[in-house]
Amino acid sequence: MYMAVILVTNDDGVYSPGIIALYKTMQNLGDVYMVAPDRERSAAGHSLTMHRPLKAEEISEHVFSVNGTPTDCVTLGINKLLPQRPDLIVSGINKGANLGDDITYSGTVAAAIEGTIFSIPSIAFSLISARRYHFDTGSFFALKIAEHVLSRSLPYDTLLNVNIPNIRREDIKGIKLTRQGKRIYENSIQEVLNPQGEKHFWIGGGKIYREHGEDTDMEAVEQNFVSISPIHLDLTNFSALKFMMETWKISEMLEE
Ligand code: MN
Repeated sequence: MYMAVILVTNDDGVYSPGIIALYKTMQNLGDVYMVAPDRERSAAGHSLTMHRPLKAEEISEHVFSVNGTPTDCVTLGINKLLPQRPDLIVSGINKGANLGDDITYSGTVAAAIEGTIFSIPSIAFSLISARRYHFDTGSFFALKIAEHVLSRSLPYDTLLNVNIPNIRREDIKGIKLTRQGKRIYENSIQEVLNPQGEKHFWIGGGKIYREHGEDTDMEAVEQNFVSISPIHLDLTNFSALKFMMETWKISEMLEE
């Protein structure tokens, strides 16, 4: 029987309990490899390390610790470390939500973006909490969703961004297919003083407002549903392109 080859990564680091839970549950589906950052790289976005060499240390069988970003881990995994091209890439389970515009900062989602660039079905999993994580709930749904993706694959240029409420499995209402919502942070830059009394800025926290919308990722998780958003990498705004083609006078733009 063919065994699917699965690459597991994250942005919380190779020792995060979230990736250990995901690595263990993926064993149910195939031959699993972990390639993950040697330390926390949350909010690394889709950054690639180009100005220094990377080291991939095999810390145990099938488990590689890399002194780079989640994106570095995926590209090294696919191209150098795994015995063959993986059939599936899973990233997480992240400690914390990846909802709305925040996914552009996310290393967890960036790993799935990198997999999608290589045309490999890729899924990002995040658990919505700041503490006391229900990784058992997370890994239960990660397994169900990964199994489905392995059998059905994914549309072209598309990854799945999955957010899981941090509650007991039996309290989850179900799974919803959603769109990426929008959220706005207020007062998310704190002014702090260092021991010398110099002012510094610390990004994070603040009050969160969100756009209302029945079909958004945020709405789903608030109602205790697992949210699955299909995300595509083509950032072109096609309706804006059409509008601009119809209304912009490009020739006039260049007139003296
Ligand atoms: Mn993280």
